[in-house]
Amino acid sequence: MEYKDIMHKTPVKHGLINYESTYKNFNWKDINRCFDHFSDNEVNIAHEAIDRHANNGYKNKIALHWEDEDNVKKQYTFSDIKRQSDKLANVLRNLGVEKGDRIFLFLPRVTELYISIIAIAKVGAIAGPMFSAFGPEAVKDRLHDSEAKVLITTPDLNQRVHEIKEELPALKHILLVNAEHNLKQDEISYESETNKASESFKIRWVDPEDDLFILYTSGTTGKPKGVTHVHNDMISHYITTKWALDLREDDVYWCTADPGWVTGTVYGIWGPWLNGISQVVYNGRYDAEKWYSIIEKYKVTVWYTAPTALRMLMKAGDEIIKKYDLSSLRYICSVGEPLNPEVIRWGLKVYNLPIHDNWWQTETGSIMIANYPSLPIKPGSMGKPFPGICAKIINTKGKEVATGKQGLLGLKRGWPSMLRKVWANKKKYNEYFKISGWYTTGDTAYVDDDGYFWFVGRADDVINTAGHRVGPFEVESALVEHKAIAEAGVIGIPDKERSEIIKAFVVLNKGYKPSPKLKKDIQGFIKKRLSAHAYPRKIEFTKDVPKTRSGKIMRRLLKARELGLPTGDLSTLEN
Ligand code: AMP
Repeated sequence: MEYKDIMHKTPVKHGLINYESTYKNFNWKDINRCFDHFSDNEVNIAHEAIDRHANNGYKNKIALHWEDEDNVKKQYTFSDIKRQSDKLANVLRNLGVEKGDRIFLFLPRVTELYISIIAIAKVGAIAGPMFSAFGPEAVKDRLHDSEAKVLITTPDLNQRVHEIKEELPALKHILLVNAEHNLKQDEISYESETNKASESFKIRWVDPEDDLFILYTSGTTGKPKGVTHVHNDMISHYITTKWALDLREDDVYWCTADPGWVTGTVYGIWGPWLNGISQVVYNGRYDAEKWYSIIEKYKVTVWYTAPTALRMLMKAGDEIIKKYDLSSLRYICSVGEPLNPEVIRWGLKVYNLPIHDNWWQTETGSIMIANYPSLPIKPGSMGKPFPGICAKIINTKGKEVATGKQGLLGLKRGWPSMLRKVWANKKKYNEYFKISGWYTTGDTAYVDDDGYFWFVGRADDVINTAGHRVGPFEVESALVEHKAIAEAGVIGIPDKERSEIIKAFVVLNKGYKPSPKLKKDIQGFIKKRLSAHAYPRKIEFTKDVPKTRSGKIMRRLLKARELGLPTGDLSTLEN
């Protein structure tokens, strides 16, 4: 069955009904009117996402259905989230948290994570969600760069913080979830404090341009960058959720992403709640049966996931799908990596629904290019630009290239959720805008005669493994900290399931010999120190890594050799 047949069965009556005319007539300013308390100098996204629903007809509507790996379940209405976040906001204020302070979160997907993000916005502070698989090195980089004042974590994860605490002078308090006893001097029990706190909190109104959250993301060089977003993002979050994810009042929505990554923050918290939608959070690892049981149990209608997960589900087979009633599903979206046509065709067969790919980045703050319910899908294409977004394929001078020709994917700067700064690094921020008038994405793509965008690859060395962006430099830096390693070069190599996997070429120090045991040891070292998502699945021991005369690792050459591609210009090669 082709996508068109499905469309005819379910004519689009809601949301983005006519893409072309909406795109032509769209004005961002019209969206401000969808909010309850929006002016040029007084807003707060937490008011729009939670309080206004709790204060009106949605007060008893479920905001959050929560379940974990042990089948523990919790449910929160919009009023519950308001009450809990008001209490925590009081705790934070009593701790001396002020507008603009950074509060970082190192938590699995527990309910406290969601409540904390809301509470932090309520006091006008800036949230920094971190992925719970991060090792001490990754945590230290983020807390240090942002000069975070408060960390909210669990006793388990806090163990990774102990060894780096001395290097974090700005960190004043650690709020521990699920720990009421044996607390150290600077540790506070989340439960004891919130239990005591008042339920009444006066929200801190802020300027739309005030900072809201920081998410660190990888580039080619240097440490991860603190991409910073502001309250004004709510305009983009609200309308892209409505039109690209097609969420409507009665939907039950499940976003499988962790809030440590941008999809989990924007479309696993802000977007759905700004729209007053009930959402499901599953705090657990991927497991095909468990995932299907979540859809069945909560009657999920809209599901936002990623290509690697879909490919894993495809591998898990069609038979297990028959065990579950997935008939509640009506709309599926995917993001983060190229979505192969094969997966779309499989989705059509087993779920009887097309999968809508969309494209965006940590820096763009919201979906930029998408497949919409009212437009036919061309399997393999990312779709068309969101209304209000001008996306073009350009060359390095900012000139548009011809239809069908590959080039840089550029976005005309100035949409509401565009990154506002790279934390404490103006130079890195400016690099995004080197081509006058354009934000450059770092991706290459082309556009076809019908205006559909097709992803080609990255223009730089950044690796995309299972939808996670990994900077080769971070992995190389962590590798050379291993006692056996003298030098390391890291690239991404194509992988059927994960888009790319990380391959490291390592030169050993004197006295060390290559062995499978050493490989395992190095992999364990990176998993523990940096993060489980960033370890090299492949390691090759080598005598040297190619470098330029100025000492930079020539990853391009490593990659060309690995993939049997032309090596290109080698005039700057040193060795
Ligand atoms: P992140 O900022 O970590 O979300 O990563 C953004 C990057 O993921 C983009 O620059 C792309 O390289 C990749 N990406 C995101 N969505 C897609 C998609 N639909 N198709 C292909 N690549 C994607």
